[in-house]
Amino acid sequence: MSVTEEQILDQLRTVNDPELHRDLVSLKMIKGVTIDGGRVGVHVELTTPACPLKDQITGDVETAVTRIEGVNSVSVEFSARVRGNSAIESKLPGVKNVIAVGAGKGGVGKSTATVLLAVGLQRAGAKVGVLDADIYGPSIPTMMGLAGCKPSILEDKIVPLEAYGVKVMSIGFMLNPEQAVVWRGPMVHGAIKQFIDQVEWGELDYLIVDLPPGTGDVPLTLAQSIPMTGAVIVCTPQDVALIDARRAIRMYQQLNVNCLGIIENMSYYICPHCGERDEIFDHGGAAAAAREMEVPFLGEIPLNAQLRAYGDAGTPDKTFTDADERIRQAVDAVVRNVAGQISVMNESQANVPTLSVE
Ligand code: ADP
Repeated sequence: MSVTEEQILDQLRTVNDPELHRDLVSLKMIKGVTIDGGRVGVHVELTTPACPLKDQITGDVETAVTRIEGVNSVSVEFSARVRGNSAIESKLPGVKNVIAVGAGKGGVGKSTATVLLAVGLQRAGAKVGVLDADIYGPSIPTMMGLAGCKPSILEDKIVPLEAYGVKVMSIGFMLNPEQAVVWRGPMVHGAIKQFIDQVEWGELDYLIVDLPPGTGDVPLTLAQSIPMTGAVIVCTPQDVALIDARRAIRMYQQLNVNCLGIIENMSYYICPHCGERDEIFDHGGAAAAAREMEVPFLGEIPLNAQLRAYGDAGTPDKTFTDADERIRQAVDAVVRNVAGQISVMNESQANVPTLSVE
């Protein structure tokens, strides 16, 4: 008896996406099935090219489909289409997700995390933009190798600059580096509005917004101006930093912005000379805080001189190619966890029943 597509789909209905906790068929992730005698091919469309669980999905699909009598080999092919949020797309056409990166206080590595997320997601195959809205210290131009550059204007729209395949717009492009600016509420509002209304982002899977630390006007204005997929909070492991991180999470919750989770930066130290690991700031505090606040923990980035040097030199891609393997793995895990949580957030929001009032 020959194998049928129905049999294969029935088996795939038993395979859940490990993060979305629903089966691949009802999630519309099965894009095609091929049958050639006992050889079966399954095309799975992931919800992000930076899927953290590709290997697990491959194994689960193989196990399920080989249960069918007559199947002797299964090959799994992947593609990815990032899912978005229609509320975001109606405000920013072409942009599927907006992710705020915040921190309770300055200097914890928020901009570093923004850049690593952006370049990491781009390298995985996503279309990415970075909006640097850190009015107190816009460091994205330097970290992306764009210091001193100015964006161009085309038909009343600001065209973002591009570095490492990532579109970049920064409040720093508009300011003279020596200029001291005292931002008043209406100025902040005006600048954020201009970023949203006048920047020509084009098609983006992820727009990552680097916000100023703390709980000031910028997150408030941003949350009032565009719907966001969620916020990522960056903190270091010390207790004082964690107290501020908790405050930041509560602020986003009050602004009705979902928390995608916490990243612990400067989590531990890897000596570039001997390779030894040192828990310099008492690593692990952010994971505990995440558990306590019931938000996802997104991973740990070690304190490392290579990371700092690549940031200062504006060569963030080197973190993914030249850094110590343990650094690369840690950063890669954070990128994938964030991408996974964005998919989870979109799926959970897609399933929230909405009232339709005629
Ligand atoms: P924030 O945006 O929170 O103010 P930055 O990302 O600008 O922080 O980081 C502050 C400084 O710390 C920068 O010089 C950056 O290169 C450095 N830094 C950040 N994260 C790390 C890390 N994991 N290892 C080494 N240096 C880091």
